[in-house]
Amino acid sequence: MKKDDCIFCKIANGEIPSKTLYEDEDFRVILDLGPATKGHALILPKEHYANLYELPEDLAGKVMKLAKKMATQMTEKLGCDGFNLVQNNGETAGQTVFHFHLHLIPRYEGDQQKIGWKPGSPTQEELEDIKNQIV
Ligand code: 5GP
Ligand code: ZN
Repeated sequence: MKKDDCIFCKIANGEIPSKTLYEDEDFRVILDLGPATKGHALILPKEHYANLYELPEDLAGKVMKLAKKMATQMTEKLGCDGFNLVQNNGETAGQTVFHFHLHLIPRYEGDQQKIGWKPGSPTQEELEDIKNQIV
């Protein structure tokens, strides 16, 4: 299903033009308009899924295979020194467009970008409690 008021549905299905790096029946890969670094791209499914929770399992598998293919090609062609995959779900996690997308971010030595977190320092007991909460 496509969502009428979703910009990524329109881009993924070619109704709004984009700098497309790759396309198949399930996905379009486009350059991000506000790139973190040179070559920052987004993998968009052609169907509308708001986030990872909504993405069907088979597409979740395909998206990681495609990420590997794109990261390999982009690293070869752009000569980047590293690569981040980023995928935000929910406003709290930094998602701003509510159509699933996986960021492909080439990294260059000295690019001054920061993708990360401040590490915590939980005790073994705290880690055990968290583990028991999850499984
Ligand atoms: P999020 O914060 O939801 O994980 O990422 C949304 C990304 O989409 C941002 O990196 C932003 O620059 C990009 N973006 C937002 N609108 C457009 C658009 O219309 N075209 C393209 N190519 N990228 C967009
Ligand atoms: Zn959409």
